[in-house]
Amino acid sequence: MITIKTTAISILFFVSLLFTGCDNETKTSARNTSNSEVKPDTLFVIKNVNIIPMTVDNTVIENATVIIDDKKIVGINTTIPDGATIIDGKEKWLIPGLVDMHVHTHADINFKENKPTQGATVFFNTQDVMGLYVANGITTTFNLDARVEHFAQRNEIASGKVMGPRMALAALIDGGEGWGRKANTASDGRQAVRSAKAEGYNFIKVYSFLNADTFKAIVDEANKQGLKVVGHIPDVFRGNLEEVFVPHFDLVAHAEEYSKHSKNKTVEDAQYFAKLAKENNTWLISSLTTMIWIRSQLKSLDEVQNSEYIKYLHPILQDRWLNPSTNHYYKRTSPEFIATIDAYIDFHKKLIKAFNDAGVPIVAGTDSGIPVIIPGFSLHDELGLMVEASMTNEKVLLSATRLPAEWLGIDKETGTVEVGKYADLILLDKNPLEDIKNTRTVNGVFVSGTWVDKKRLDTMLSGLAQYNEKNKENFKWEKRREY
Ligand SMILES: [Zn+2]
Repeated sequence: MITIKTTAISILFFVSLLFTGCDNETKTSARNTSNSEVKPDTLFVIKNVNIIPMTVDNTVIENATVIIDDKKIVGINTTIPDGATIIDGKEKWLIPGLVDMHVHTHADINFKENKPTQGATVFFNTQDVMGLYVANGITTTFNLDARVEHFAQRNEIASGKVMGPRMALAALIDGGEGWGRKANTASDGRQAVRSAKAEGYNFIKVYSFLNADTFKAIVDEANKQGLKVVGHIPDVFRGNLEEVFVPHFDLVAHAEEYSKHSKNKTVEDAQYFAKLAKENNTWLISSLTTMIWIRSQLKSLDEVQNSEYIKYLHPILQDRWLNPSTNHYYKRTSPEFIATIDAYIDFHKKLIKAFNDAGVPIVAGTDSGIPVIIPGFSLHDELGLMVEASMTNEKVLLSATRLPAEWLGIDKETGTVEVGKYADLILLDKNPLEDIKNTRTVNGVFVSGTWVDKKRLDTMLSGLAQYNEKNKENFKWEKRREY
């Protein structure tokens, strides 16, 4: 059983590390909607809109006027300035841009790695990768295995070449023969933290194969260096979970970390874990959709192949994920594996309820980028699953707006609809407080100060799907080392 569990968890990450997005022609970037078409306007007014601000009291402001200038909200219900681009918000709903707190972003990758001067061999067009987040109203992501190429992507966004979300980046440290930076002693763990900080990371991710001393040293050093810690609960704490809750272990990367540590998957276990997390102020990333899709792939690839969103993925990912001979989960399926995941899924509902009841802050994350968690679209699935697991619509919205902004330390800039905040915003056709499914009714998005309306989002997506379809034959997983 333990072997199967470990396999399930390590596969999650294995696949994510291998893939990171793609295309070779920057000029087709964003397909039919290159950034040159972006209106250079910086002054916008949204009229007659219902604002769900997601502030602490969160009183809906009906029929309001929102003024946006130079990327920021500069007025609510104040005088409409001359020369502004007017957006009709009548009978629509304005909420803060959403945050996905657990992503693995596809980026350029080198499949050969045999020459010291070799660059990437498969290229992921950054606009194509980021467009999926934007189209779904996601204006901030938290990358939990960030590498140097993600700094490059972030710079493309910051410089205005690409329209995309804010990117928080965590450097991964693991033990044994694991992933990312390896550290197997306390002093190596501390040095790994200091190196990551020197390279520009603001967050540390701890992983499954760290030993106890190294884990504790990493968490302690990260705090000394002013970096917050997110991550897995290392396997070494199995059977003595209390020990993992050291001060400044700030955030657990997904619900399954607790499932791994629950023998009987009872409500009592869930409540006990919640108590430990609450006492240590360790928040939780939900990541419920991950297991749903893993189970789906273990059973059959039909659902994946019929997914309406798979066409937005780079062809090399489609080829790998849709193919029975190369889909990593499908290849390793067994009745025991399926039973394990079933038990996880069932336990996650108990867990979310227990954590929510105990007042442990829960933030929404999806593990997007692993098979077949589609960036952007998956966050709306996640929000629905959180409601199914007993959270209110409002609390679920909070988990994807103000709370993650607070955890990331950017709540003075984003996370609510308030004067002075950046205009990270989604305009929705329907009220998400009434039904969480309504977060999908995106009418337009403000990202990096740019208004992107529904028509433009749809054009971007359909252009991307066409491009991917046309290039299917050029990107075969089996030939990846030949590219
Ligand atoms: Zn992950």
